[in-house]
Amino acid sequence: MKRYAFIIDIGLCENCHNCFLACKDEHCGNDWPGYSRPQPLHGHRWLDIRQKERGSFPTIDVAYLPRPCMHCDGAPCIAAGGGAVSQRSDGIVLIDPVKARGRRALLDACPYGAIWWNEEEGLPQKCTLCAHLLDDGWPAPRCVQACPTGALTLFAGDDRQLQEKVKNERLELLPEAKNQRGRPRCYYRNLHRFSRCFIAGSIAERLGGIEECVVAARVILRQGEKIVAEQCSDQFGDFKFDDLAEDGADYQLEITAAGKQLHLAVLALTGSRVLGTILLDESGLTLAGHGR
Ligand code: SF4
Ligand code: SF4
Repeated sequence: MKRYAFIIDIGLCENCHNCFLACKDEHCGNDWPGYSRPQPLHGHRWLDIRQKERGSFPTIDVAYLPRPCMHCDGAPCIAAGGGAVSQRSDGIVLIDPVKARGRRALLDACPYGAIWWNEEEGLPQKCTLCAHLLDDGWPAPRCVQACPTGALTLFAGDDRQLQEKVKNERLELLPEAKNQRGRPRCYYRNLHRFSRCFIAGSIAERLGGIEECVVAARVILRQGEKIVAEQCSDQFGDFKFDDLAEDGADYQLEITAAGKQLHLAVLALTGSRVLGTILLDESGLTLAGHGR
């Protein structure tokens, strides 16, 4: 059976807000009987785009996370809705625009903040996945069609195919989904740019009184004897180990180039750590402090 899901690539989102505006264009001032009443012009973000900044100068990573209603299987909003919220066989969760009138408490039932209150209508509202368009033969909701980078895509297939895709492409649910009832039908690629951190630096050496970047230095990230990852510095002498847990773990860096070797300790990693310029001529040193 064909069921829908959002697949969102955080690595491709440019924060252009085309998706947000397409949603407004489709729903503001438009009544779609049986699906949704008009969305107010201001206040609602049926497709909410969050921002996260990691690191510090000169290595800063800014990522954007589009968050629609995730059309959860076994959704808590359905359990709280008393018949006013339901999931169709194709996976789309809809708030009935008639039965849900006055049910402001539904906003608290969504653990992801995806339901918004329409004061004028006295109605809780959210993303409908443009079900009225899909039912009319459109291939995708307006937000997906408006996304210029391919960050937003719509999956349509059976649940076995979806789970294969999730496994093969290492797609993830939002971390908070682990502790919630229900299972979102919204999967993310490159979620580490929101939920995990990095260690970065730039390797240089002094030649004739001038600092030169060191290309192709071998950099090994360890935890004790275990090699976590390794890479070579790029043409600017830069390296970056991403997708590390923010769990307070200690790491060691081993840098080898031009017959020299340097050891550094990175302690208690709870956020991205930018080590700045590391001179190969320095003796081993310990770096601590807080990341972000
Ligand atoms: Fe309901 Fe929130 Fe899940 Fe959407 S994201 S189906 S509103 S619980
Ligand atoms: Fe991101 Fe695509 Fe939305 Fe632009 S349209 S903000 S790239 S998801």
